[in-house]
Amino acid sequence: TGELAGLTALVTGGASGIGLATASLLAERGADVAVLDLDPSGAHPPLRGFTADVSDDESVRAAVAAAAEALGGIDILVNNAGIGAIGTVEDNDDEQWLRVLDVNLLGLVRTTRAALPHLRRSTCAAVVNTCSIAATAGLPQRALYSASKGAVLSLTLAMAADHVREGIRVNCVNPGTVDTPWVGRLLGAAADPAGERAALNARQPTGRLVSAEEVAAAIVYLASPAAASITGTALAVDGGMAGL
Ligand code: NAD
Repeated sequence: TGELAGLTALVTGGASGIGLATASLLAERGADVAVLDLDPSGAHPPLRGFTADVSDDESVRAAVAAAAEALGGIDILVNNAGIGAIGTVEDNDDEQWLRVLDVNLLGLVRTTRAALPHLRRSTCAAVVNTCSIAATAGLPQRALYSASKGAVLSLTLAMAADHVREGIRVNCVNPGTVDTPWVGRLLGAAADPAGERAALNARQPTGRLVSAEEVAAAIVYLASPAAASITGTALAVDGGMAGL
């Protein structure tokens, strides 16, 4: 019994970081939640884990079908799986470009395509995409990543227009720098991880990184019936970073 009781949700990349926090919060609010991930072992009950690689259409189709069957439908889809890339246009070769676009952009397309027949059967269908402030902020050393997320932002708007008349809302969140295992890996690779973390905190207008739970709260809001009139928007959860 929570505000999402009786609803079902599928979260990609839901075994870690923002996805795991989102899947957990959806479950806490009463939804029945499935997680689709390369390695779903990070998602504990009541979350239901399904293995899939969003860059592999066959595995996405199979996992979405299995999740929809286990849940008895899909009301909420959170397209969150994504990977990073660092560098200017000179630093990443074609193979790296195609790999990141395959996961961050086409991964979202594949999962949405597989989930749409189920979303159409819902009376309160919602899709939330995890985009990034990189889509709009013009960050240095993030050419490929920014392009992939810029495409996610445009696609969110296009999908919102395509599906609003069939009762499916589509929005995205634009997180700033979020304290997840992803950022942990970046810091771990630095010469002075503690110093680098302090510098990263100092660069945030709020003086600290955004938490995965704060991004999850925004995603769950956009996914919930409380946001029934909200579609085609990007909600920044960035501690003021994009505005500065
Ligand atoms: P994370 O690495 O902690 O979690 C990502 C999850 O996605 C992992 O469980 C991983 O196994 C899964 N995944 C990766 N590739 C996959 C694939 N091909 N198929 C299926 N699952 C796959 O990362 P996070 O920080 O929680 O990031 C989640 C999303 O948030 C990403 O889309 C990322 O671009 C976005 N984001 C993160 C930040 C940040 O600062 N951490 C900021 C803005 C946006």
